[in-house]
Amino acid sequence: MVYLERILKACAQVGIEGSFVDVEGDTPEIQEAELTAAIDRLNDDPRVAGIIVQMPLPPDVRLRAVVDAIDPLKDIDGIHPLNAGLLRLGYEGFIPATAHAALEMVHRSGIELRGADAVVIGRSPVVGMPLAFILAREDATVTLCHSKTRNLADKVRRADVVVVAAGKPGLVTGAMLKPGAVVIDVGINVVEGRIVGDVDFDSAEKVASAITPVPGGVGPLTNALLLSHLMRAAQRQDQAKEHFEA
Ligand code: NAD
Repeated sequence: MVYLERILKACAQVGIEGSFVDVEGDTPEIQEAELTAAIDRLNDDPRVAGIIVQMPLPPDVRLRAVVDAIDPLKDIDGIHPLNAGLLRLGYEGFIPATAHAALEMVHRSGIELRGADAVVIGRSPVVGMPLAFILAREDATVTLCHSKTRNLADKVRRADVVVVAAGKPGLVTGAMLKPGAVVIDVGINVVEGRIVGDVDFDSAEKVASAITPVPGGVGPLTNALLLSHLMRAAQRQDQAKEHFEA
C-alpha cells in the first residue's frame, strides 16, 4: 500500500491523474476473474495510458493469467510476455521500472559496465531476471544468483557490480565484497519496524566505492522512471491511434 501511495503522490506532483483499483473476491478463481476483468476495462479506457499490477498477487491467483491480460502498449512495468520477449531480443519495449532504476543508478554514477563482472542476486521475472539481460546487453559479464546458488560469497567477491534483489536482509555484507565494488540494493524489508535493504549497509559502505541506501535509493528512482514510462506509453498510444485513423 505504501508503494502504491507513493506512486499516486508522484503522479499528483506532476499533474498525472492516477487511481488505485482494488479487487476483491472470496476465492482465487473469483479474485483472478475480477482482476483480469478490471485490467480489461483499463485496457479499453482511452483515458488510461498505463497499468501496473501490485505484486505479489494473492496466493493461487495465476501470474500468467494476469500479465497476459495487460495491453502491452499500457504495460509500463514491462511484465507482459511481449515486452519481456522484446527485452530478451534487445528490441525497444517497456522494461520493468525497478530493473531500469538499477541500470540508471549505474549509468548516472559514471560506472563503466562494458567488460565489468556483474552479479545479480535474485531471478524473479520482474527484477533479477530482466536486470541480468539488461546488464548483459550493456556488455557486462553477468552471473545470475538465486536461492539454489552455491558459494554465493565467492561469486559476489569477484564482482565489480553487485545488484541484490532477494528480499533477504543482511544477505550481502562488506566481508563478501571486492574492494571498490558498486552495490545496488533493490531489497525492501521491514525489520523490527524499520525498512532495510538486502545489504548490510554499515559493513558494505566501508568496502564499496558506491552503494545505494534503503530507503531512498532504488525505490524513488523506480517511481520516477515509472512516470517516464507512462509518458512514453501515452505518446505511443497517440501514434498508434494516428496510424489507425490515417
Ligand atoms: P521474489 O521473492 O520474487 O524473488 C526473490 C529472488 O531472490 C528469487 O529469485 C530467489 O531465488 C532469490 N533468493 C532468495 N533467497 C536467496 C538467497 N538466500 N540467496 C540468493 N538468492 C536468493 O522477489 P522480487 O519481487 O524480485 O523482489 C526482491 C526484493 O526487491 C524484495 O525485497 C522486494 O521488496 C524488492 N523490490 C524492490 C523494488 C523497488 O522499487 N526498490 C521493486 C520490486 C521489488
